[in-house]
Amino acid sequence: MADLRKTPIPSWGLINIKHYASINIQYSRGCPFNCEFCDITLLCGRIPRTKNKDQIIRELESVYASGFKGQVFFVDDNFIGNKKKLKEEVLPAIIEWMELRRHPFTFNTQTSIELSDHNDLMEMMVRAGFDVVFIGIETPHEQSLEECSKFQNRNRDLLASVRKIQKSGLEVQGGFIVGFDNDPPTIFDTQIRFIQTSGVVTAMVGILTALPRTQLYERLKKEERLFKEATGNNTDFSTNFIPRMDYDLLISGYKKVLSTLYSPKHYYERVRTFLREYVPPRKKLFHFRFNYIAAFIKSIIVLGIIGKERFHYWRLLFWTMLTRPRLVPQAVTLSIYGFHFRKVFEKRLG
Ligand code: SF4
Repeated sequence: MADLRKTPIPSWGLINIKHYASINIQYSRGCPFNCEFCDITLLCGRIPRTKNKDQIIRELESVYASGFKGQVFFVDDNFIGNKKKLKEEVLPAIIEWMELRRHPFTFNTQTSIELSDHNDLMEMMVRAGFDVVFIGIETPHEQSLEECSKFQNRNRDLLASVRKIQKSGLEVQGGFIVGFDNDPPTIFDTQIRFIQTSGVVTAMVGILTALPRTQLYERLKKEERLFKEATGNNTDFSTNFIPRMDYDLLISGYKKVLSTLYSPKHYYERVRTFLREYVPPRKKLFHFRFNYIAAFIKSIIVLGIIGKERFHYWRLLFWTMLTRPRLVPQAVTLSIYGFHFRKVFEKRLG
């Protein structure tokens, strides 16, 4: 396994940084959990390897020196894999650096759900400038969580955990899976209900797929249920093993989940649920760029005048202006994301 402490600083001069809406850096690799379908632990190990705080500060300084301002994505497998080091060394250093540099970035990353059990960690992340976390929620169906050894998600009120994170000032994006052996035929409606109630606006739903060498792959191989190698894309309306559920039912149920979640009615409803729950930090950072004005005008034309979602778009905009005026930029941004997701899914659904 590579020693992250020896990773050199990226040469940002090799790219035109102005062409990027988001820049990636990495603090750690690996994850202490052991979900059956996941290949992260195979590839990157279960003991998180981390960079040290000075390295992270040097990397942030290098992004800053490149002239970039805006979203920086910590592309970690599980950013909170080593909570002690994060709380005692890395986050305090990032907080200090961000204050010194007058908050040039906002951060997003990937974590596991037990982030919600650590108020101090959430508070520090928000102070450091984090505003979005992606979490593998997978399924609200307890037996399916047990099946895939997603123990950190079990025996907890997942909705309450999501809300707690939203209230701390972090938007939760979520990964969801259908196609577990224990999924009942009602799982599609259960997932839709859960996602709508949670206000997880960006819900990445995929079909369970057996990636090479994972525990899931080895189990299905023994059970003689694998029929091809995984494509690596778990949203292509197929899987590579014989599911317990009827195959056609699984695919049509999956299509129903996607087309419902990203229909204008459901999508905009979810944005409102999120904005209602979300408590932005007192000093919510917004990095203004001139092209945001162009994007806003374009959203008015494409979503508010031409688009079939125009009623929902204006309703959201007026509702946000009246009830959560500070969150108008977020409402517009999420409306634009929704349009993008819908176009992608409509193209795939044919
Ligand atoms: S928590 Fe996420 S990264 Fe960690 S093993 Fe489970 S799926 Fe993989």
